[in-house]
Amino acid sequence: MNSDNVTKVILSTIKEHILLSIGIVAAVSGAIITSIIPPLVLARVIDTITGGKTLPVMLTLLYFLFVALTGAAESVREVMLTVFGQKITHALRSRLMDKLTHMTADGLNHQEPGAVVSRFVGDVDTVENLFTSGIISMFADACRIVSIMAVIWFKNRGLAMVLVVLLPFLFWFTRIVQKNMLKAQISNRRAVSRASGHVPETLHNIRTIHSLGKEKYMEERYDTYIGESYQAMEKTNFFDALYSPVILILNAVVVAVVMLLSASGNAGVLAFFGMSAGTAVAVINYISQIFSPVESLGMEIQTIQSAIAGVHRINEFLAFDEIPPFEKDDGRTRCEDDSKEESVVSFQNVTFAYEDHKVLDHFSLEVKKGEQVTLLGRTGSGKSTIFKLILGLYEPQSGEVYICGRKVINIPEKEKRKMFGYVEQTFHMVPGTVKDQITLFDPSISMEQVRTAAKMAGIDDTIMDFEHGYETHCTEEMFSQGQLQLLAIARAVVAEPRLLLLDEITANLDAQTEECLMKALKRVSADRTVLSISHRIHAETGRVVRIG
Ligand code: ATP
Ligand code: MG
Repeated sequence: MNSDNVTKVILSTIKEHILLSIGIVAAVSGAIITSIIPPLVLARVIDTITGGKTLPVMLTLLYFLFVALTGAAESVREVMLTVFGQKITHALRSRLMDKLTHMTADGLNHQEPGAVVSRFVGDVDTVENLFTSGIISMFADACRIVSIMAVIWFKNRGLAMVLVVLLPFLFWFTRIVQKNMLKAQISNRRAVSRASGHVPETLHNIRTIHSLGKEKYMEERYDTYIGESYQAMEKTNFFDALYSPVILILNAVVVAVVMLLSASGNAGVLAFFGMSAGTAVAVINYISQIFSPVESLGMEIQTIQSAIAGVHRINEFLAFDEIPPFEKDDGRTRCEDDSKEESVVSFQNVTFAYEDHKVLDHFSLEVKKGEQVTLLGRTGSGKSTIFKLILGLYEPQSGEVYICGRKVINIPEKEKRKMFGYVEQTFHMVPGTVKDQITLFDPSISMEQVRTAAKMAGIDDTIMDFEHGYETHCTEEMFSQGQLQLLAIARAVVAEPRLLLLDEITANLDAQTEECLMKALKRVSADRTVLSISHRIHAETGRVVRIG
């Protein structure tokens, strides 16, 4: 297990952008402090006017200055938080990609593509939100509530007591509304994704639907999904429509009650609620100000909750094992033609199991330079596993695997392609041109090498027939199944490796295509060591090794 986690990434981002982090703290506290002052100045202004004195210009300027400062500090805070959030997202996504590319084959086996994508996208977004609209805003809102309450306490004790009773109720009501809205939004999203998934599904299976007469059934299912979506949307609208009027009424009621009490003639009541006209204006201002952070607090709690779940999922992913760094290397770069090494592949007493399932038990195999060896065995006997061990995707529990006398685990990735070419049972296309399919974006491979490889594989003519030849953007439909296998052979031999690994490459092909493929194989196998897996013994098959 790896101790790498989200906290580490965040801390190193803070360290890397220390000025930005300090700027955020300054802008957050600046916005809180400056927002407290304008109502106090306003109170002074009104008291001066109602007291019949002349209003000093400085006081008015001060009011505008602080209103402007609050606005400026808030916008600086927003900009900085957004930039910081992006830095965090960038750092997290880079770390996740780094993890994905270095994950062991065993770790990759545990990954489901949809889940990995959702960690990269959704979960990282929740962590970004934690900074842009979660933890820092929550801290700022809590500070605002406390500071406004403190000012109100000094200005009007009675109102402060009313608010202490009222704010928990307001918070509770806000949370209830937000929770219900979130629930409705989630069920709406689910219904929408089911409804949008239903359209391509119907299209994909349209022939089966027609032949089984399932048109009505598909229509009804679609209706159910969109019906669910409308229901959920109505719920969201209901809560949305309910919330604002309740808050406005509550705001008005508090102001009215406090004003009535402050105007009462009772000395006992006035001891708590009595205030000047100026203070009354300031207090009304503060009451409106305190409602919005309470509302925001509810949303921020929601954001923080989903960010915690996101952090947990990203940490789970980051905890998977990585391929260990290479041990000391013996310096040789490839199975050179003039290499004295006679043995190209060597399994020495290898025992290997996938978790508890033992596949190879003290297995040994020697393949000498220039040999053509076919592995034969029932399905599940471990033939492809032998290839995976040669490719260095897994390490044996005991014993050693050598290629050209070098331990497989010590061969750096970038050298492997020059040592062996691997043709899988099915071709995996990369996004790019036809040339990219063969080079796999290796800039050291020249166009001449690409064409030589394609000619050897017998696919050059087909490629040259495309409008842009090797520069044509590649799609699956451009090639038949057999041609894709020829492309895979070109990919395997382009770096001119001495060893070829072929995993059941003629399976699923008709006799004619197979023949074409066998001819291509004959061409590429000359002067090479070939280790292949096959269910059939061909006339050209050299030594046969039975597995299992
Ligand atoms: P086939 O001829 O069907 O391709 P094979 O000889 O190539 O079979 P392998 O793919 O090497 O067989 O699998 C050997 C055994 O290991 C099988 O029982 C298989 O279920 C198991 N196995 C293969 N890959 C994994 C994996 N990633 N995790 C766990 N078990 C695996
Ligand atoms: Mg296999």
